[in-house]
Amino acid sequence: MTETSQFVFRYADIRESGGLNVKLAPPPAAFADAFDSPETLKKLRLELDFSVGGESILLEGKVYAELELVCSRCADPLARAFEDSFDEVYPDSLEYIDTREVIRETVALLAPMKVLCSEACKGRCLVCGANRNSKVCGCRPDMGSQFGALKDLKLIKPDKPGRKDSK
Ligand SMILES: [Zn+2]
Ligand SMILES: [Zn+2]
Repeated sequence: MTETSQFVFRYADIRESGGLNVKLAPPPAAFADAFDSPETLKKLRLELDFSVGGESILLEGKVYAELELVCSRCADPLARAFEDSFDEVYPDSLEYIDTREVIRETVALLAPMKVLCSEACKGRCLVCGANRNSKVCGCRPDMGSQFGALKDLKLIKPDKPGRKDSK
C-alpha cells in the first residue's frame, strides 16, 4: 500500500500511541457508492475511536449522514439526517486497519426501506399522477389509471377520494 487514505491507519501507530480518536468529514463522494443513486448521500461525518486491547484493536465508530431520499407515497424528494454506530475488532496480525468497508456498510444501512415526507402524506392520484398534497385534481377513481409510471410505487394508498355526488 503506497498511498494511505484518511480511512486507513497503521496498526503499529495506533498501538504505540495507546489508541486514537479521529473525526472526519469526508466528501460524500467517497462513499456515494453505498447507494444505488450517487446523489443519495449529501453530507457525512465520522467519528472513529480506536482502543488498544491485548491482542487486538477495537474500533467504535459513529456515522452521521444526511441523505436525500424519495417519499414512498408521493415520490417527492426529501432530505433527512441519520446516524448509527458500529464496532469492529482488528487482530494484531494486521499491518493496516482499513476502515472503508465497515464505514460503507454502515452508511448503506442508514436508509430506511420506507420513508414518508410526512405521516399525513396523501400520496399521488392514481389517475393523473398529481401530488395530492399540493393539488386537488378532481379525478374519480373509476377513470382508470393512465399514469403508468406510478405502477411501480407499491405504497400508494388510495385513501377515500373526496367523492361528492354533485352533477
Ligand atoms: Zn410524500
Ligand atoms: Zn388526478
